[in-house]
Amino acid sequence: MRYYDKLIFELSREGRQGWSLPENRWEERPDELPEGLKRKNSPGLPQVSEPDVVRHYVNLSDMNFGVDTGFYPLGSCTMKYNPKINEEIASIPGFACLHPLQPAETVQGAMEIYTGLAGCLCSLTGMSAFTLNPFAGAHGELTGLMIMRQYHISRGDMKRTKVIVPDSAHGTNPASAAVCGLQVVEVKSTPEGLIDMEDLKPLLDDTVAGIMMTNPNTLGLFEREIKEIASSVHAAGGLLYYDGANMNALLGKVRPGDMGFDIMHLNLHKTFSTPHGGGGPGAGPVGVAAHIAGLLPSPVVRKAEDSDMYEMAENPDGPGRISGFAGNFGVLVKAYVYILTLGKENVKNVGPYSVLAANYVKESLKDMYRLPVNSLCKHEFVFDGLDMDNAGTDESAGCTTLDVAKRLLDYGFHAPTIYFPLLFHQSIMIEPTETESKETLDAFIQAMRAIAREAATQPDLLKSAPHNTPVRRPDETLAATRPVLSWHPGL
Ligand SMILES: *Cc1c(COP(=O)(O)O)cnc(C)c1O
Repeated sequence: MRYYDKLIFELSREGRQGWSLPENRWEERPDELPEGLKRKNSPGLPQVSEPDVVRHYVNLSDMNFGVDTGFYPLGSCTMKYNPKINEEIASIPGFACLHPLQPAETVQGAMEIYTGLAGCLCSLTGMSAFTLNPFAGAHGELTGLMIMRQYHISRGDMKRTKVIVPDSAHGTNPASAAVCGLQVVEVKSTPEGLIDMEDLKPLLDDTVAGIMMTNPNTLGLFEREIKEIASSVHAAGGLLYYDGANMNALLGKVRPGDMGFDIMHLNLHKTFSTPHGGGGPGAGPVGVAAHIAGLLPSPVVRKAEDSDMYEMAENPDGPGRISGFAGNFGVLVKAYVYILTLGKENVKNVGPYSVLAANYVKESLKDMYRLPVNSLCKHEFVFDGLDMDNAGTDESAGCTTLDVAKRLLDYGFHAPTIYFPLLFHQSIMIEPTETESKETLDAFIQAMRAIAREAATQPDLLKSAPHNTPVRRPDETLAATRPVLSWHPGL
């Protein structure tokens, strides 16, 4: 172990300090501070010099893995490269230092960006209007479903409380529907991984509020019958919700609006290249078709009727406020810069290149990993574990998907998404994205192939992996049931 890999508490020496603060004025005037707020014991902070602190945090940051340090093929999450110009523009003080309560006439530029980005998203998706206010994909889903409910209520159609969700859906879909007070009904997939029309049709009655879909779906497959699905749901009086968190495969090629969807959200922090992971900040804009464009949440950013100025207005017909103000503005700026720097011509390449990369990786590995749905995929695909006799389905029997994922860390790659979707027992979900070079994809393919060979010849190497990461394999059960998230003396 290197000296500075030690915990900062272990570096601590009594009396050593890296700060100089003003005198503690409470010591002279003890009555000014209420008893209840006074600390009885020392907080036990480490006593270290400034270089110790700096080295501690820089070394910690070195242990992190991010898309700026290596390939990160996380399925259903689009960890594409985030161009640094996005950050540079978003950190211009005129953007970064805005206050949401500033008078409208001082934030005309920000509102122009808001409407400019909303306009780009409309052209890319075929929707007629967008709110950029939601803070995340799941927040966008909730907002979209509130709009869906509002739509039915505004027509006096009070019976519609059911939302149809495919069994392959992202977990946030049924969760958002439940949070919105709607009842979730599952529709099954065919063995080809697409929505089963025979299973769908009987569900379409006058209690259906709508259906939530992802296309391409969670298996990376395009729902070819989308036109028929759309007309059946519409004929039954329901609306179509499109989960566009991962719109990479379609970007510049196909538009959800043209497929018949009425409401959708996008994850700017996936498809539109603003950093994510670790809990935010994100943005989950919601788009709506023309016939429900009047139902967006407040505030609505628009041109004032009697002048050329932008204003933020309340919309009495919408579901009210779903966030304090008009969204995570910094994230909106980054996404807008991304779209504008790509431009109309290059944005059309995102879909085809991401699809090409996914199919290249899939075809290069399918002789060693089980491919349950063997067809052309879109931006991502799912293996069902190792394709070999001693591939196990649990810890006791051969090498599992977890072992493959852990071993991949030794090769310097972030693991793909594992054990999702739930349709298969050993899911490995891979999404390479359009931002990776062929050389990077080849290096990943070689590592995956080497791991499959190791699984056959030295399975213990996988089962005890990772071997060269700062933290080895934690006990997954203990980590979930008794997580230790902070250091205490004597731990
Ligand atoms: C990531 C994702 C979501 C949720 O997005 P958050 O920003 O994490 O809330 C929803 N649906 C799909 C398909 C996703 O991949």
